[in-house]
Amino acid sequence: MSIIDDAVMANRNYAKRHDRRLAQRPAPKIAVVTCMDPRLSNLPEILGLPHADIDVIRTGGPAVTEDVLAELVVSTRVLGSREIMLLDHTGCGFTTFTDDALNAKLAAATGDASPTPMRFFSYDDPEEHTREQIRKVRAHPWIAKDVPVRGFVFDMETGLLSEVDAAPERAGAAKRDGGVSAMDR
Ligand SMILES: [Zn+2]
Repeated sequence: MSIIDDAVMANRNYAKRHDRRLAQRPAPKIAVVTCMDPRLSNLPEILGLPHADIDVIRTGGPAVTEDVLAELVVSTRVLGSREIMLLDHTGCGFTTFTDDALNAKLAAATGDASPTPMRFFSYDDPEEHTREQIRKVRAHPWIAKDVPVRGFVFDMETGLLSEVDAAPERAGAAKRDGGVSAMDR
């Protein structure tokens, strides 16, 4: 039996305790964009939010692609989400390769280069990556300006979130200015 066969069997038991109220219209309160990584699957526990409140949008990284933007527009404009959270993490599988190297490797291994250059959205630094994704969402004209867009890195070792400042240059300058005046005092 395959894993899918096991899952279909298990579903018959699940259906016996299924909450039928879920058949009503979806009513999410927040859209969370996170990585496909299975270690991020338990968002209700990680974030202390009910399943029914979270629209979960998952890609590798996560990367804010055109599809993700479309889903965020629907989540906030149609379904009722009021906030957007981008949830990156440490130890991401998408930091273990580069797009160029994987394209070359797969073209060589299969003898077919026709899909190149495939965009895998690999990246190096989770903080910088989060910052870029926040900017992408924030820049979209159909994401309402009063919808908060905040990004975080989930630490796989500690289980803690740290918020990423979307505009570190300005914040850094302000901190440095503060540092000088503090030293003067
Ligand atoms: Zn990941």
